[in-house]
Amino acid sequence: MTEPGHGPAVPTRLTVLAGPTAVGKGSVSADIRTRHPEVWISISATTRRPRPGEQDGVHYWFVSDAEFDRMIEADELLEWAVVHRAARYGTPRAPVQEALAAGRPALLEIDLQGARQVHAAMPDALMVFLAPPSWEELVRRLVGRGTENDEERERRLATARQELAAETEFDVTIVNTEIHDAAEELVALMVGPAGPS
Ligand code: 5GP
Repeated sequence: MTEPGHGPAVPTRLTVLAGPTAVGKGSVSADIRTRHPEVWISISATTRRPRPGEQDGVHYWFVSDAEFDRMIEADELLEWAVVHRAARYGTPRAPVQEALAAGRPALLEIDLQGARQVHAAMPDALMVFLAPPSWEELVRRLVGRGTENDEERERRLATARQELAAETEFDVTIVNTEIHDAAEELVALMVGPAGPS
């Protein structure tokens, strides 16, 4: 007996991109946002303050703790997590469902805790791990960003060590040697193999 869903794999439309701190997830998704308007990218809600240049509704929805509490209470978040023990981040559920219903390839760029929640809630989601070329390179990128103080950087390094070990939980690994190449590799995975050439 053939059960529904056991035929040839239907290309999944939800993709989760996770990986260690400062590996370049944000840069890869920004590159996709610029070059691939066909890919829908989720805008997370966060309780952290905007960094210079960040815009509400573009990079994040910057919300108060009370508003984040309300979103959790109303079950409006597909997943959420406290990241770096500093602020809460979550994926608004409705826009993801709308994008998927519209048949758009949808991308979530989230941390590992959030990725695990999405994997549990939506087992068909394609789980992609973005890895650094090496640990040394990851540290260089983390320090190079220079937006955190020493204590914050140490905290992020500790998180990154744990996050690197999680690679085996993912379906695919993309090594982020060069942002544009990694972005193209990810989009190719999301939209499936190109037609005959
Ligand atoms: P940043 O504060 O540097 O923008 O992001 C910090 C971390 O939060 C990154 O690892 C990013 O992937 C993660 N993040 C951003 N949005 C979400 C979200 O909606 N859910 C979860 N779980 N993590 C998120």
